[in-house]
Amino acid sequence: MPELPEVETVRRGLEPAMLGARIQKVELRRADIRFPFPPRFAQRLTGRRIVALGRRAKYLLFGLDSGETLIAHLGMSGSFRIEAAKSVTPGAFHHERSKDPKHDHVVLDLDNGNVIIYNDPRRFGFMDLVRSEALESHPRLRALGDEPLAREFDAARLAALLGGSRAPLKAALLDQKRIAGLGNIYVCEALFRAGLNPSRPAGVLANARGGPTRAAVALAKAIREVLEEAIEAGGSTLRDHRQADGGLGYFQHAFSVYDREGAACLRSRCAGTIARVPHSGRSTFYCPVCQK
Ligand code: ZN
Repeated sequence: MPELPEVETVRRGLEPAMLGARIQKVELRRADIRFPFPPRFAQRLTGRRIVALGRRAKYLLFGLDSGETLIAHLGMSGSFRIEAAKSVTPGAFHHERSKDPKHDHVVLDLDNGNVIIYNDPRRFGFMDLVRSEALESHPRLRALGDEPLAREFDAARLAALLGGSRAPLKAALLDQKRIAGLGNIYVCEALFRAGLNPSRPAGVLANARGGPTRAAVALAKAIREVLEEAIEAGGSTLRDHRQADGGLGYFQHAFSVYDREGAACLRSRCAGTIARVPHSGRSTFYCPVCQK
């Protein structure tokens, strides 16, 4: 499943191809993805100019000049592909599953010559269209917590959000109602970088007055760093998730602890071995020696 850095990579890949362009034609090849498309979906998109391309947590937000916003979520295997009209190569699809045209569900023809294709073999993604001013009250968006890459997100904010919780740090960080968009991979990575054991209670982040502790300072810094580094690296490409520019996206981000069970800890002078603790279908990876 794509995590926040991957979705931000997709947004950055789509922006130059879509921003300012008008949607000339919309082709829906199914009536639904995970859910049915909203009423008159194609008609409401056709002729509209794309005036903004934003992101909230793992939702892509395409602002339209009609005052509506197209919300798109990639689910497990969704991807956008950009094809300039002239360079479409029929028959060159065989090597990449996510380019298999039978999973191309939505095709947008733009007036700048680009064709934007949404492909989703497993169809866990979805699209919706809402009034832009009502975006924050959309059922999928209204309960979302803080954006971890927002400027306001710092140690004090982290302490305020999680410091009162008795839940383990790992679980508290995954709670989308507090911090939105952090998934298993980057929570594991951030806790490693901050030197914090995933099972420590989240209360370790706040002092008696509710202010940030040294642990909160380290963790807030680590969260921002791991996300920004992954975005910079083009987003990690796991399983069948692909980069928005239509490239293979074979780049695999180098993780410090994620998926490294039994490997040597990468922290200098640490003799630890990365451990994996499975819980509710997900695994926590950490170094039992240097994460305290
Ligand atoms: Zn270690």
